[in-house]
Amino acid sequence: MGYNTNKCVKTDHKNRRRVSSISWRLFGALAIFTVLILIVIWIFQVVLLNIFYKKSKLDEFYRAEKEIIETIEDKDDLKKTIYSHSIDSDMCIRVFRVVDGSAKEIVSSRSNSGCVIHNISNDGLSHIYKTAEKNGGRYIRKINSKLNDKQASSTIYASVIENGGNKYVLMFDSDLTPFNATVQTLEMQFGWIMVILIIGALVWALFVSRIICLPMKKMSRSARRLARGDYGEHFEGGGYTEADELADALNFAASELAKSDNLQKELIANISHDLRTPLTMIKGYSEVMRDIPGENSPENVQVIIDESERLSELVNDMLDLSRIKAGTRKPELEVFNLTETIRTVMLRYEKLTERDGYDISFDSDIDVCVNADTSMILQVVYNLINNALNYTGEDKKVRIVQSVNESAVRISVIDTGEGIEEEQLPYIWDRYYKVDKVHKRARVGTGLGLSIVKEILESHGANFGVDSKKGEGSCFWFELGISSFCAENEE
Ligand code: ADP
Repeated sequence: MGYNTNKCVKTDHKNRRRVSSISWRLFGALAIFTVLILIVIWIFQVVLLNIFYKKSKLDEFYRAEKEIIETIEDKDDLKKTIYSHSIDSDMCIRVFRVVDGSAKEIVSSRSNSGCVIHNISNDGLSHIYKTAEKNGGRYIRKINSKLNDKQASSTIYASVIENGGNKYVLMFDSDLTPFNATVQTLEMQFGWIMVILIIGALVWALFVSRIICLPMKKMSRSARRLARGDYGEHFEGGGYTEADELADALNFAASELAKSDNLQKELIANISHDLRTPLTMIKGYSEVMRDIPGENSPENVQVIIDESERLSELVNDMLDLSRIKAGTRKPELEVFNLTETIRTVMLRYEKLTERDGYDISFDSDIDVCVNADTSMILQVVYNLINNALNYTGEDKKVRIVQSVNESAVRISVIDTGEGIEEEQLPYIWDRYYKVDKVHKRARVGTGLGLSIVKEILESHGANFGVDSKKGEGSCFWFELGISSFCAENEE
């Protein structure tokens, strides 16, 4: 089954390639377009030409007929009219007067020797006259004849008219042979034009598709190399806008992939380093205590306990972050006194103040209740204060300030440390991102602190940020909507 599926996929892939080849599509489109244009021209130039030509000939007959009727009583004028039409419109004309049932020619003109109306017998003429009379006075026919072994065709028009009490028969004959020859030449030409244009369309399609496809092919080769992990791959356009834009987009994607690949490598290196350090310490101290008599001291045990704590802190942070990211740890909202909670947190840092000389203060003028997840917000506050303690300046000062406006409370954690460069600011919220890679003090973090802060605050829909300038300390802050102003010491 697996093999079959594979086979199918391969065949599909091949078919897809053949069907969607740009050269063939382009050629197909051009060929169809060419054929359509030729058909339209052929319809007008060959098929409809016959009809147009016939119509224009008939118009000439009618014009001549009208003028003949106007001049029929004056023989000289009549002759002039007939000759001029005969020469101008290349037609043969005969005019008969019907006297006592038989027609007598009064004037005639022939533009060429092949005129049917001049060459047919009297019976033929009489047949035309009678048919015209039967048809209400008009006779129109296309006649094919053979003269001196040459095939000829002409249009015959005859009309029976009454004028001044006399009856006349007018006969016109126009040779169609040159027209037929023209149509034949056009038809032959069309055949050749069609072949030439289709070959031209093929060549043009191949040429254009080469221009379009070549850069595409190059880019797909580069993309394959990129997929194999060659992130240094450079995509080149083809000198036309769309290909250049595609190349730019792919180059951007390649550089982003390279960045994320580096980040991933760095991430793995950081995780393994952070996990390995406490483990090495625990293992080392345990071995020393086991092997060297007298090393089983409370200080050494404390190191093992501290490192185990750090390890579990790291693992907990990793779990927290992945739980929040995966959405399995959702904020459990409850209304609590944020000001009082921070005051309680401050008590826990008292020991640190006494022992290490830190100066930690909390400014608040009113107690504020918020609707949030208490333990999550506590995690945020701890993380921000720990970072501030870790990075504050030589004066070891850290200020926590609560400021309140109508609808929100802002908690700012301010230190006097070296601050963060502007271009580093967007990245400090990323997992394992470290500006200096080295923590200043022993109270090391896990490198996950700010990303946990970010995830928690985002899950609360809270505003947060950092104001920091290199050399001027940092102020990390977050804002929560005020649920109510609560009485002091009420939680
Ligand atoms: P870490 O465990 O490294 O402190 P965090 O996610 O808490 O991890 O912080 C990420 C990085 O942001 C830190 O490595 C540090 O470079 C920078 N940073 C965080 N807080 C401060 C601060 N108060 N002052 C200066 N830099 C800070």
